[in-house]
Amino acid sequence: MEKGFRKKKSGRQIPEGEVITLEHVTKSYSSGAPALNDVSLHVKKGEFVFIVGDSGSGKSTLIKLLLRELVPTNGEITVLGYNLNKIKHNKIPKFRRNLGIVFQDFRLLKDRNVYENVAFAQRIVQTPTREIKRNVPSILATVNLAGKYKSKINQLSGGEQQRVALARALINKPTILLADEPTGNLDPNNSWEIMKLMEKINENGTTVIVVTHNREIVNAMKKRVVTMKKGVIIEDEEEGTYIDED
Ligand code: ADP
Ligand code: MG
Repeated sequence: MEKGFRKKKSGRQIPEGEVITLEHVTKSYSSGAPALNDVSLHVKKGEFVFIVGDSGSGKSTLIKLLLRELVPTNGEITVLGYNLNKIKHNKIPKFRRNLGIVFQDFRLLKDRNVYENVAFAQRIVQTPTREIKRNVPSILATVNLAGKYKSKINQLSGGEQQRVALARALINKPTILLADEPTGNLDPNNSWEIMKLMEKINENGTTVIVVTHNREIVNAMKKRVVTMKKGVIIEDEEEGTYIDED
């Protein structure tokens, strides 16, 4: 998928190995200050990036733009060679198959069991049942839920539910994993487990973008940290830390 996407899908020059490119992106919802204001951001394949910043600073808007749930008011976004300003509607599902997504509120099918929640993501992309039966136990083992495949979602702890959501996000082998405050509803131990799993996934080659408020984890993990404030990036640091305001 990555090979040669530069020339085919975009007329502009995107540096080799860059999977996310935002050039002067502004997103306004209505009148008033834009949610994102002239943001430029470049992410290379295999990076692990934390996005931090106060509530309302534009982090979720950025994630929604990357998913092509929103389109920018101004500026250009390219993800995995897809120019998201120009992508045709009928190509969006195919584009999104390259992305795994995790949210703060898990968004699982509560009346189904663990296996069915994860298998569902494979059925959508028409994976043969034979393969699903092989893949689901393997990904559940990766997220330390091997014994729980028959459990109903509402019988699981928050940490377990988020690991199911992570398994579902990963089962189709995404190139990029996006997580919007994945530990926002979890206690410190479960937060660490989720972050460590995402680090492991990153070490296996997946590009990982994590929006978080978890200062302690950001400061301990020594990853790239992009700090947003009122719709702009005010800091972008390798092995960064959570900036103390005021
Ligand atoms: P964060 O995720 O950092 O808390 P958001 O991206 O959700 O920030 O929001 C950025 C700004 O955009 C906020 O001022 C918020 O109120 C506004 N906003 C977000 N979504 C919408 C929407 N659907 N309609 C109008 N304004 C919105
Ligand atoms: Mg948000």
